[in-house]
Amino acid sequence: MKYVSTRGRAPVLSFEEAMLTGLARDGGLYVPQSIPQMPKAEIAALAGLSYEEVAFRVMRPFMDAQMTDTRLGEMIERAYGGFEHAARAPLTQLGPNHFLAELFHGPTLAFKDFAMQLIGQLFQDAMKRRGERITIVGATSGDTGSAAIEAFRGLDNVECFILFPQGRVSEVQRRQMTTPDEANVHALALDGDFDDCQAAVKAMFNDFDFRDRVGLTAVNSINWARVLAQVVYFFTSAVALGAPHRPVSFTVPTGNFGDIFAGYIARSMGLPIERLVVATNRNDILHRTLQSGRHEKQGVSSTISPSMDIEVSSNFERALFMAYDRDGAAISRLMEELSRDGGFPVSQGALEALREIYGSGRASEEETGATIRAIHAETGETLCPHSAVGAKVAREHLGATPMITLATAHPAKFPDAVAAATGARPPLPKRMADLYDRPERLTAIANDLGAIESLIEERIAK
Ligand SMILES: *Cc1c(COP(=O)(O)O)cnc(C)c1O
Repeated sequence: MKYVSTRGRAPVLSFEEAMLTGLARDGGLYVPQSIPQMPKAEIAALAGLSYEEVAFRVMRPFMDAQMTDTRLGEMIERAYGGFEHAARAPLTQLGPNHFLAELFHGPTLAFKDFAMQLIGQLFQDAMKRRGERITIVGATSGDTGSAAIEAFRGLDNVECFILFPQGRVSEVQRRQMTTPDEANVHALALDGDFDDCQAAVKAMFNDFDFRDRVGLTAVNSINWARVLAQVVYFFTSAVALGAPHRPVSFTVPTGNFGDIFAGYIARSMGLPIERLVVATNRNDILHRTLQSGRHEKQGVSSTISPSMDIEVSSNFERALFMAYDRDGAAISRLMEELSRDGGFPVSQGALEALREIYGSGRASEEETGATIRAIHAETGETLCPHSAVGAKVAREHLGATPMITLATAHPAKFPDAVAAATGARPPLPKRMADLYDRPERLTAIANDLGAIESLIEERIAK
């Protein structure tokens, strides 16, 4: 499979090259040149298979010919072997025709582990074969960083730097980033918000000298390999509820649009997904865009679902690229308009294409808390605030088709918000019960590109 940039002016790359490159050199994101199709009979044959077997069948067609089946199979086994639940992404039921896909049984308790654990394996494999070293730089609103540090700690030939917004991640998220003591992982607390972190990472990628000097790679959700790994649980969940013979819909708590875009890929492969519903918190730029047809920044505010406190939703560019019939020049112009004017109108044709697939909704802070409380009372299930945003919006979209809400994090990752809603602090799973006792290690840094780049160069020279 070959990969092209959403802005149409970067080299066409293989799967491995696209994975190692992260952000394209024209500022765009890599997408597959075409979407492999999975016929109905092949989808039906996924019923009853293990998560790992489904992962193999779904991802294989997107990879390069030189990837052997044995190597891929082994990497998938290692990636998901550390999950606490044998089903990896088990389904539970929240109400009539409303299901929850629990994506929080990985080592850092959020769905990011599905992609990051696999990417760790894929990167190490590629670096070993190429005899190269790389520097991974990521921005995080909390969960990506902890998942990345967990996946890359101690790996050979990889240095991993994570920028997180100082004071804006939960204590559990911070401790998951600052307590691993391996020398190749670095938690950097930036004086700014998540968009500042993301902008700093983008700027490092656009500094081509620096980028080449340190062998820079991104593992943010702009990295295609991450999106691909997330396609798998759309298949396992839908098949468990009767796909391909019965369609399903998904509601996805959304920030950077990576998770829901993976659902779009599953749908494009042939999985019968009726609706993909974007659930946003008060930072509702995507909901407003789908409602009004104008994509417009208004500023980010902090919420109890911090992993969704995002305004520049990077993967939305991939959705736009598809909605604009893969017109890279048009996407380039929109992205220029966004950074110059803070917004752009979506063309009528593209808006219709988006609305045909994506629904949307938002949850205020009060509604999020009320949903945690209500679902706890009705079912005994404790949702994290992100999953609660999803459940609230999903309930507004229930119909004849089964609805699956993605539970993106474990409630114990956000104990204060959950305790405020239910009165009870959700305990951490046993294997990380000592998280609050482990020593922390982090570096505070100004929101200044030069300072960040120098720090990275100093650290990798050691
Ligand atoms: C990252 C994250 C999200 C948002 O996912 P995107 O792929 O960025 O849209 C939602 N919930 C949690 C818990 C997350 O960690």
